[in-house]
Amino acid sequence: MSGMEQDFVKEAFATNWIAPVGPHVDGFEQELSAHVGTRGALALSSGTAAIHQALRLVGIERGDKVFVSTLTFIASVNPVLYEGGEPVFIDSEPETWNMSPQALERALEAARQEGRLPKAVIVVNLYGQSADLDPILELCNAYGVPVIEDAAESLGATYKGRASGTLGAFGIYSFNGNKIITTSGGGMLVSNDLDALAKARFWSTQARDAALHYEHSELGYNYRLSNVLAGIGRGQLQVLEERVAARRAIFERYEQSLARIEGIDFMPEAAFGMSTRWLTAMTINPRIVDTTPAELIAQLAGENIEARPVWKPMHLQPLLRSCDYFTDTPQFSVSDQLFAHGICLPSGSNMTIPEQERVIDLIAQHLHSRRPIHESA
Ligand SMILES: *Cc1c(COP(=O)(O)O)cnc(C)c1O
Repeated sequence: MSGMEQDFVKEAFATNWIAPVGPHVDGFEQELSAHVGTRGALALSSGTAAIHQALRLVGIERGDKVFVSTLTFIASVNPVLYEGGEPVFIDSEPETWNMSPQALERALEAARQEGRLPKAVIVVNLYGQSADLDPILELCNAYGVPVIEDAAESLGATYKGRASGTLGAFGIYSFNGNKIITTSGGGMLVSNDLDALAKARFWSTQARDAALHYEHSELGYNYRLSNVLAGIGRGQLQVLEERVAARRAIFERYEQSLARIEGIDFMPEAAFGMSTRWLTAMTINPRIVDTTPAELIAQLAGENIEARPVWKPMHLQPLLRSCDYFTDTPQFSVSDQLFAHGICLPSGSNMTIPEQERVIDLIAQHLHSRRPIHESA
């Protein structure tokens, strides 16, 4: 927290707006949509709820296919399952670790031949970086399939000068505790389609028809964000740019210290935009350094430092075993490699330089102890 959040929360208490409605909810929606440049926004209880509402808006029905980036957190997929949809997973491209346009093209063509095009393509913007949306949108437009941008991890990033999360028909953000700004829990659905947002606003408050008595003709949800939490969100939004700068500085220190170790590669930043570097992620080439992410994670855990593997791809999850999967090239799965060799390093915006230097020293020690087979010149 920056401190400013407390004033907004105090105001919620002082005015007794302790409900999933109130001036902070309206204010947070207006300020966020102004910040990212969409016509509207809808504050919800989680990013997962926002993806669920976006799927309802594109008209998902039982048995519909939905394409989803495979390298992501399960929340990108669960709402497809809530609706009885059939997820189809799309591999990453090596350049951005995000959805591979060439894999997407093969998947769309296969679906067209089968006569079952997907209801939507959920494109995930991983670890703070936008996917390459232009070729993805061009393909999806050609096949008439709407894009939902899962920008839960990329609030504050840009794609060709535009805010990440605003290029598809719908975008979603998350304010869960681990995200770049947080309300403890919360989410936002953004779009330029105000009628669609009005519909989702109606569904997310139990779909109450306009009647004095409680009348319902459609299925609804209890998905709105509390006015207290929206107050926290308004305070957090004011420090978003600071947080992005902090995360990028953390990335740069890691890179400056570790990138010269042969066999270490950091997640690339594509020239088309700016990543927030929400998490600093790198890969370890096992042909050059004789260790694994699991060993390095264990080594750091011994020093009370938490690092994590890269997301386990969805096509490898027991829950989703039966789903189709399209790899980057017919013979090669990029996301399997990233999962096998990738690691996410401690990246919290409040990390101090001495804390980070301690992490860097321990990583460097571990990597050097694994006697690189080829020493760099
Ligand atoms: C965090 C996250 C979500 C879900 O957001 P919640 O607010 O936790 O429901 C969705 N997709 C991705 C890629 C995420 O990292």
